[in-house]
Amino acid sequence: MTQEDVDKLLTRAIAQARAAKIPVSDRIDPRVRLNQRARTRFGCCVRREGRYTIELSAQLAREGSERAVMQVLCHEVLHTCYGCSNHGPRWRGYAQRMNAAYGYEIQRTDNYDALGIEDDRPVRYYVVCQRCGRRLPRMKRSPLVDHPGRYRCTCGGALRVEPVAGVRAIGYEKGDERT
Ligand SMILES: [Zn+2]
Ligand SMILES: [Zn+2]
Repeated sequence: MTQEDVDKLLTRAIAQARAAKIPVSDRIDPRVRLNQRARTRFGCCVRREGRYTIELSAQLAREGSERAVMQVLCHEVLHTCYGCSNHGPRWRGYAQRMNAAYGYEIQRTDNYDALGIEDDRPVRYYVVCQRCGRRLPRMKRSPLVDHPGRYRCTCGGALRVEPVAGVRAIGYEKGDERT
């Protein structure tokens, strides 16, 4: 999907929100900023001096379906509404309205599977179930990776963390939640 395609979808996302009587800002930059490096989020809504710029992961633009891109753009466009800089009740209410009107599945967070694009971030840890042997790849630290003893596998088994050989320990990284 080209820059022009993505910009057209942004125009459509704004129009759909307005048609659903959602008061999105009329000061949204018509050009989407494609973020080449984003690895932990698919979209972002940046506010500067009363204007909004929507960012989209370049990988999502390249590999994602039109529907996946629309869903992320709509998610971000809703952040331009009054009182919607977070995922509070007002934002969630608008997201539900968009989902009901257009069949989206806009949610607070998204993941590579749901958006149908490949997660090529390096695996740094495996969380391994000691009972059923299930191995969950993890790209970054999380409460689960830091404290596996506090969690259980869906089978009820205890979990253990195996760092992937050759990967340095890493510090804190930002979560997957879109902002
Ligand atoms: Zn298990
Ligand atoms: Zn968000």
